[in-house]
Amino acid sequence: MKLYNKLKDYREIDNKNYVGDYMNMSNNESKKIIDIYDVAIIGAGPAGLSAALTLKVHNKSIVWFGTNTLSDKVEKSEKIANYAGFEMISGKELNEKFRNQINTAGLELTDKMVTQISHNKNGYMVLADNEIYKAKTVLLAIGSVPAKGIKNEQELLGYGVSYCATCDGFLYKGKTISVFCGAKRYEHEVEYLAELADKVYLYTTYNDSKIDLPNVEVLKKPMRAVLGEKKVEGIELTNGTKINVDGAFFLRSAVAPSTVLKGLETNGAHIVVNRNCETNISGCFAAGDCTGRPYQIAKAVGEGNVAAHKIVEYLSAEKQ
Ligand SMILES: Cc1cc2nc3c(=O)[nH]c(=O)nc-3n(C[C@H](O)[C@H](O)[C@H](O)COP(=O)(O)OP(=O)(O)OC[C@H]3O[C@@H](n4cnc5c(N)ncnc54)[C@H](O)[C@@H]3O)c2cc1C
Repeated sequence: MKLYNKLKDYREIDNKNYVGDYMNMSNNESKKIIDIYDVAIIGAGPAGLSAALTLKVHNKSIVWFGTNTLSDKVEKSEKIANYAGFEMISGKELNEKFRNQINTAGLELTDKMVTQISHNKNGYMVLADNEIYKAKTVLLAIGSVPAKGIKNEQELLGYGVSYCATCDGFLYKGKTISVFCGAKRYEHEVEYLAELADKVYLYTTYNDSKIDLPNVEVLKKPMRAVLGEKKVEGIELTNGTKINVDGAFFLRSAVAPSTVLKGLETNGAHIVVNRNCETNISGCFAAGDCTGRPYQIAKAVGEGNVAAHKIVEYLSAEKQ
């Protein structure tokens, strides 16, 4: 919660046209601030990888966020028959090739989920788990994501809704929370939350959850709304059942773009870009499925490449 507020301060300072030294804003925080990068790439699918490779060739400093398993979508593709260079390849094989290329190119992936990005004229601050990273530009390569999550989720973000167990879990010591777990790889975060909270209502999007803890009640129906006006007071399930909770965690492999970066122009679930992959926010670019159809690897790779070149131009214009 503290970190979210700090990111809000960052925006407000800029709005007042006050040139603040935002390095100093963090002095009393427990988080780590990493040096400023040329580019923060969010997403480790084909679009993010394509951009990372080109930016590396141009010697740009990169911080690259995603999961070490790379793109789930590519992994799930049984047979890919329309990607140039391969007559037929399975998604697993292609991801393996991507992984090898990452290693050969000497690229590093930060296995963290980005939950918020803030910006002012000095650049961007990216919140990932419990750390803030600074970058001059940002590339969103986050794949296609449902527009807004469930009802009232965005409105109560920071007021009981959280996307980050590590950042906010301690606030719910001895309390009752709900957790939406969108992938097995987040189960350790559910266990961590269950250690802190008194009671956890858990909904998983998959069937073979390994979580079996006395204070965790598994919900059979998904959540359809977060309840509360100024702060989270409960959740509502799709069968109309209402459950009182103090906090609601959503652990997903992606967060809606307009939630991650306030003020970003979207059209439904898609980020609006021009042919240069520029968004409406200066220094922020987007590529791949997140910019719209067709949802294809070739399009993602192509846009990642365009975005990378435009980022290089943007950075060089900034220097002059
Ligand atoms: C079953 C299936 C079959 C398909 N078959 C084909 C095919 O035959 N040919 C074809 O061309 N395309 C196919 N596709 C589509 C193709 O997989 C996508 O178009 C492509 O993966 C898009 O790449 P991307 O990089 O834009 O997004 P993605 O591949 O979705 O990658 C986005 C990445 O960003 C990460 N991410 C998102 N938000 C955050 C965040 N906040 N912080 C950190 N990381 C984040 C995600 O975890 C993900 O790894 C198929 C898709 C599916 C699901």
